[in-house]
Formats: sequence, structure tokens, C-alpha cells
Amino acid sequence: MDKTALKFERMREDMVENQIISRGISDPKVIAAMLRVPRHLFVSDALMDQAYGDFPLPIGEQQTISQPYIVAEMTQALNLNEEDRVLEIGTGSGYQAAVIAEIVYRVYTIERIHELYVRARTLFDKLQYFNIVTRYSDGTLGWAAESPFDAIIVTAGSPAVPDFLISQLAKGGRLVIPVGNQDSQDLIRLYKDDKGIHETNLGACRFVKLVGEQGWKE
Ligand code: SAH
Repeated sequence: MDKTALKFERMREDMVENQIISRGISDPKVIAAMLRVPRHLFVSDALMDQAYGDFPLPIGEQQTISQPYIVAEMTQALNLNEEDRVLEIGTGSGYQAAVIAEIVYRVYTIERIHELYVRARTLFDKLQYFNIVTRYSDGTLGWAAESPFDAIIVTAGSPAVPDFLISQLAKGGRLVIPVGNQDSQDLIRLYKDDKGIHETNLGACRFVKLVGEQGWKE
């Protein structure tokens, strides 16, 4: 490994120790995935040295890559298994999709901004994430043709849980989504079984808005 890669690997280890494990994330799959994904490659060159900091960063188009801890928290809440097929709404930088792709069989991720979609697809190919399937469209409608999904993650804030996403969730499936107004949301986890939908509130969070037919209007 060259010097730069080694430097970023050290920063990544510190990030996982001081932001993830120390705050109670315990799923070994999530910890291993976050140690592997080179987060600095998901931001612009100018921001690389800040990529492992305890904060979100701009990725262009007025969008952001989430803070490392929130990525870990949402991934853990999905309760992922090796054979799972997972839908992500809001590809953005592609970082969250890559973390999930380290754990599961296949990730389907949808982005509505063309430039971000192209950039993420190019990076997935470069990093050889062949189990990530990308799509450019309105993710609030889900991805019916590939449903049902074992887990669905929405990485943008929504006024409510889109019905399409609930219906595309498999029995035993988990859905994690920030729900609230445009300034602050609650991170909601839904679990679907024979008896219906069970909801838990994981606490306050703040995301950019989910824009689409079942989300906010532009
Ligand atoms: N998971 C991303 C977070 C990106 S921020 C990461 O790891 O970097 C949220 C993203 O959701 C933005 O890129 C935004 O364009 C996208 N988004 C918002 N509404 C959407 C919709 N209806 N369908 C698909 N993507 C959407």
C-alpha cells in the first residue's frame, strides 16, 4: 500500500474507534464494512483530508455525504444479512451504498440528480463494487421490478413514509427513513411481519430533502 492509502487507512481506523464503536455501534458487520470503504474517495479532492471527520460534507448539487456515525447507525438498524437484497433511495456520493454492499448480496440504489448518479456509478466501477445496481429516477416510487427487498434505506428527509416503499418491503423486511419537516426529522425504523408494520423511533436527525412524487415538491 502506498503512503497516502496508509494515511487514510489510519484515519479510517480512528474514525471507527472514536466515532462509531465508542458511541455504541456493535454490529461486527457494520464495523468491518466501515473499516473497508475508502470514504475519502467519495468526496472531492479538496475535501479528502476532512473525509474521516465527525461531520457531513458537501458533495455538490447542494447535497451532502452523511456523517460517519449516522451511516453506521442506519446500517446497523437495517439488521443486514449476507444474502439480503437492499434498496437505497438517494445514492448521493455512493458511500452509504458501498458500506451496505460490503455486507449484503446486492444493493439497488436510486438517485434523482443525473450528475451524482453518473459520478457514483463511475466510482462503483472503479472500486469494483459489482454488486451495486444504480438507477437514475425518482426513488419515492421504489423499484417495483426488483421488489420485494429485505431492507430499504432512505437517505433523504421525507414528510411521510412513501407507501410504495412499504409495499416493496419483504415480510421480515426493515425500512429506515428520516421523517419530519425540512429542518429536522426523526429516524424511523419499520419492521414488517405477518401481523403488520412495527415502528420504532431512533431519534432526531437532519437530512437534505427527499424530492419526488411521494416526497417534497421541488
Ligand atoms: N447516501 C448518500 C447521501 C446523499 S444525500 C451518501 O452516502 O452520500 C441524499 C441524496 O438523495 C441526494 O443525492 C439527493 O439528490 C437524493 N434524492 C433526493 N430525493 C430523491 C428521490 N426522490 N429519489 C432519488 N434520490 C433522491
